[in-house]
Amino acid sequence: MKIGVPKEIKNNESRVGITPAGVFELTKRNHTVFVQTQAGFGSGFFDEDYLEVGAIILLTIEDVYASSDMIVKVKEPIESEYGLIKPDQVVFTYFHFASSEVLTKAMIDSKAICIAYETVEDADGSLPLLIPMSEVAGRMSIQQGAKYLEKPIKGRGVLLGGVPGVPPGKVLVLGAGIVGIQAAKMAAGLGAHVTIMDINMKQLRYVNDVMPNHVVTEFSSEYNIRKRIKETDLIIGGVLIKGAKAPKLITKDMLKDMHPGAVIVDVAVDQGGCFETTKATTHENPTYIINDVVHYCVANMPGAVPHTSTVALTNVTLPYVIKLANEGWETACRNSLPLSKGLNVVKGKIVYKEIAEAFNLEL
Ligand code: NAD
Repeated sequence: MKIGVPKEIKNNESRVGITPAGVFELTKRNHTVFVQTQAGFGSGFFDEDYLEVGAIILLTIEDVYASSDMIVKVKEPIESEYGLIKPDQVVFTYFHFASSEVLTKAMIDSKAICIAYETVEDADGSLPLLIPMSEVAGRMSIQQGAKYLEKPIKGRGVLLGGVPGVPPGKVLVLGAGIVGIQAAKMAAGLGAHVTIMDINMKQLRYVNDVMPNHVVTEFSSEYNIRKRIKETDLIIGGVLIKGAKAPKLITKDMLKDMHPGAVIVDVAVDQGGCFETTKATTHENPTYIINDVVHYCVANMPGAVPHTSTVALTNVTLPYVIKLANEGWETACRNSLPLSKGLNVVKGKIVYKEIAEAFNLEL
């Protein structure tokens, strides 16, 4: 199969759809891979790295789309790419269709086969192509929180690990899912005192089993949260109720009980956030302060570490890319339940119920 990797052109997106290691696996199987020049640059991969593993470097995005049976990328196509997508071309990327009717209609018009990373689903209901980005964001949340606790950037002036003779900082992690566990692990590694809360006892039992003793589990309730925030230096928001907005666990009124200069990192901002005072920010301007509490609410945290994020993402997408390339999309989706769940728009028709419902369109 002819596979195309265009350079991402969405604002501030430095990731790339396939790494040189991925291209190596594809060319080894006699597939042809077209990579747009400089496509990997933002993630630390150069044209020479791709050439070395047998890719063909093309100069323009138009050439990549025109030459390929399947496009593998990271973000949803933006308007200038709509016209480049051909009927029957497979496009494998994050789409997040439910948040854009314009994109949905453009992909219907393209008559392409749109397979969305975010809806590829394992038999147990987990979303394997979303997990790595939660892992990145969870680990990064502590790195960012620790930084914004510093006084020159308006934080409380607390070193999370403490020093001999000075107790460590206190971290509260809301949600013991992928984000929460990675955050707790990083905070514990720095020597902070960590409390992690969830409403799911199975998750709390797991955390209790695998984490060191200075990570304490506590059931998530309004009473417990109100009590705990009075002593906390850094709160991480990592809750998720699938398909719904995040519950507002900390109201504006509760902020006055926190230490001035305490920091909250709301990773769940992409689902509306779990703090009443959350509003989405960007890497250019990541924080704002309300009631003396520093808020960090960047909606695409992994974008700040494109090298790690690209490798983490392509580690999980590559087996599906290989399957699609080897078998063709129809056989691959017939043989793989997770891939079949990724089909969103096929040759002019929406095939994913929730997307049709979101815009009152025909299934
Ligand atoms: P997950 O499903 O693995 O974990 C969510 C956890 O929240 C679950 O264990 C659930 O039981 C728990 N929860 C639900 N209600 C709760 C409550 N009232 N109190 C405490 N815990 C509660 O989800 P995840 O992969 O960890 O993702 C968490 C959020 O982070 C999602 O909204 C996701 O989209 C977001 N995210 C954001 C970024 C970013 O860049 N900002 C990156 C990746 C993921």
